[in-house]
Amino acid sequence: MRFFLILGVLSIVTMQTASSAAGLNQPGDPSQNNGQLSWLKDSTAKLETELVAKHGETQRARAHRGLSQVASFWRAEDGDANAFETFVRTNFAGDQAALDAMFNRFEYNLEQINGHMGEISREFRTPSDLDVGPIAPYDDIFGAYDPSAHVNDDFFQNKLAFIVLLNFPLTTLEQRLSEGEKWSRREWAEARLAQRFSKRIPADVNLAVAQASADTARYIAEYNIWMHHLVDASGNRLFAPKLRLLSHWNLRDEIKADYSDTPNGLAKQRMIQQVMERIVTQTIPAVVVDNPNYDWNPFTNEVRPAAVKDAEGRKDREPAAGLELNAPEPNTRYAKLLLAFQAMQKVDPYSPTAPTHIARSFNEGREIPEARMKTMLEQLLSSPLVPQVAKVIEKRLGRPLEPFDIWYNGFRPRGAYTEAQLDEIVAKKYPTAEAYKNDIPNLLVHLGFTKERADYLAKNIVVDPARGSGHALGASMRAAPAHLRTRVEKGGMNYKGFNIAVHEMGHNVEQTFSLNNIDHTLLQGVPNTAFTEALAFVFQGHDLELLGLAKPDAQSQALKTLNDFWGTYEIAGVALVDMSVWHWMYDHPKASPAELRDATVQISKDVWNKYYAPVFSKRDVVLLGVYSHMIDSFLYLPDYPIGHMIAFQIEEQMEKAGNIGSEFERMATIGSVIPDLWMKKATGAPVGPEALLNATKKALSELK
Ligand SMILES: [Zn+2]
Repeated sequence: MRFFLILGVLSIVTMQTASSAAGLNQPGDPSQNNGQLSWLKDSTAKLETELVAKHGETQRARAHRGLSQVASFWRAEDGDANAFETFVRTNFAGDQAALDAMFNRFEYNLEQINGHMGEISREFRTPSDLDVGPIAPYDDIFGAYDPSAHVNDDFFQNKLAFIVLLNFPLTTLEQRLSEGEKWSRREWAEARLAQRFSKRIPADVNLAVAQASADTARYIAEYNIWMHHLVDASGNRLFAPKLRLLSHWNLRDEIKADYSDTPNGLAKQRMIQQVMERIVTQTIPAVVVDNPNYDWNPFTNEVRPAAVKDAEGRKDREPAAGLELNAPEPNTRYAKLLLAFQAMQKVDPYSPTAPTHIARSFNEGREIPEARMKTMLEQLLSSPLVPQVAKVIEKRLGRPLEPFDIWYNGFRPRGAYTEAQLDEIVAKKYPTAEAYKNDIPNLLVHLGFTKERADYLAKNIVVDPARGSGHALGASMRAAPAHLRTRVEKGGMNYKGFNIAVHEMGHNVEQTFSLNNIDHTLLQGVPNTAFTEALAFVFQGHDLELLGLAKPDAQSQALKTLNDFWGTYEIAGVALVDMSVWHWMYDHPKASPAELRDATVQISKDVWNKYYAPVFSKRDVVLLGVYSHMIDSFLYLPDYPIGHMIAFQIEEQMEKAGNIGSEFERMATIGSVIPDLWMKKATGAPVGPEALLNATKKALSELK
């Protein structure tokens, strides 16, 4: 799953540098430029005539487009009229042979630079990623260094980017959606090549975005609640000493864990809901954030100096002078969000056809139009299956739903084996990472790959000892293998480690096919991380069979489906809130943090009242506004529900096809075309919630 988060960070960068579009979909107007270059218009007109005279009338459209694209990005520092004209005369590919040669060279060389930069990053990160001894402070610096960070700037400076813009077309999402189906693979590869250079964001703007990103991330990373210091009306402490939970993820996970705490679970869950609501409304006392020195009753909002100590050695933090002990957090949450908004706004002028962060996020990051996304979310949220699943949950809980039950996690299948039994089986089979590595060909054959394909894939996967729980690191050039990082404990691999290794192996197989067995390296990969995760989950879902055990029965599968459906229902509302809040900020660019707070609270209530109140029988709940990614990840949340939908579509297709091996290879070599086109090629239908809804319907009847 970790790749979701990585995408969150990457997508911000992508939006500014590598991404699509449209930078200029009607790139015919050089005045779009900074307006200082008075000679541009005359030069482009003169050069168009000249190029057509030299290469023939058939090249007019290309020449016109290329000149306009170059002119749109040319700045004074790139050279005067003379330099511009010489550049165009030297670098326009006037016939097909010259264009083919240029395309091939760029494709090959970009593969080399991506691939080698990837190799450098991987090596620099070895001490932090692999279990190879202590990490020195300088290792962190090596690990954080991105050798490819300035490649696009360099390519504008040395004019390689301008050569691409002179010869290959920039496209809009509308074009890719409406015409893309008829494009040849080469045309798709050309579109992706040009997209790499569809933006040229000034360094100071990039810096502002990076700073806002770091600033909001720090705010979120330090937002802990000391749970032992939450007290109820009778002074009871429901949570253990030293328990420090990060908002909102750990708080949410505690709600989930509390379902199995029969005596105190419900009281704990209600208390956490209260804490979350006070975070959203910013009525939380500032002094209790990440501070074990105060006791707090989140219902009455009373604060007192802590009556018990459970965090010796921490520095005391006192309320600001002159303030009440329970003075609220001064809307810092919304001040940070405004900071993010203002930074993203700075990018707008350099993105004329996707002139808002919202447009860039949907048209360039996801390549799914916002309106379609909204329709899909609403289709899911208003599905008649929601009240049916809600009824099942109420029955299992033996009480009416309460708002925090949006995080209900009781659809856990009863496995045929205990975790301890599975640990024993796995440890015996895989005492070392080497043992797992040697078994990869067998595992792949078991999943339906031919012996030949299994051996080929296994040869391309290097197994390393992970420091963390495990991850997959693909290559970006064909000469390099994919890396599977897996964790093996001293007594052998445990079941959790195996389950993760199988998931990561799914990534590695996708990475291998989508780089090495694809027609164009410019189309390497899949449309976005939701697709690579969905493919990895296909592997992971068969982990028991790979151990030679029975696969989960129909009942267990039905429970798993309902769990996914309920999780998607929850996050779909959160995504709608995220989207509405960004629209509100663009509509009110001068808003104060307090105004943004009021708006977010209202939006959260509105979405709740429309899609949740009918099943929860309670109105005006603000819980949907608590997600931390809303503050630090800049409109990333819609990726989650869409990820679930995509996973079900791929799973459904795998079941239909019946053979994972060949179907997986077919899907993984479609490449990074737009999501809808990929999904049509893979399953016959565009991206949508139907597969998830079908599976849910089936799961409900299975449970009856
Ligand atoms: Zn993954």
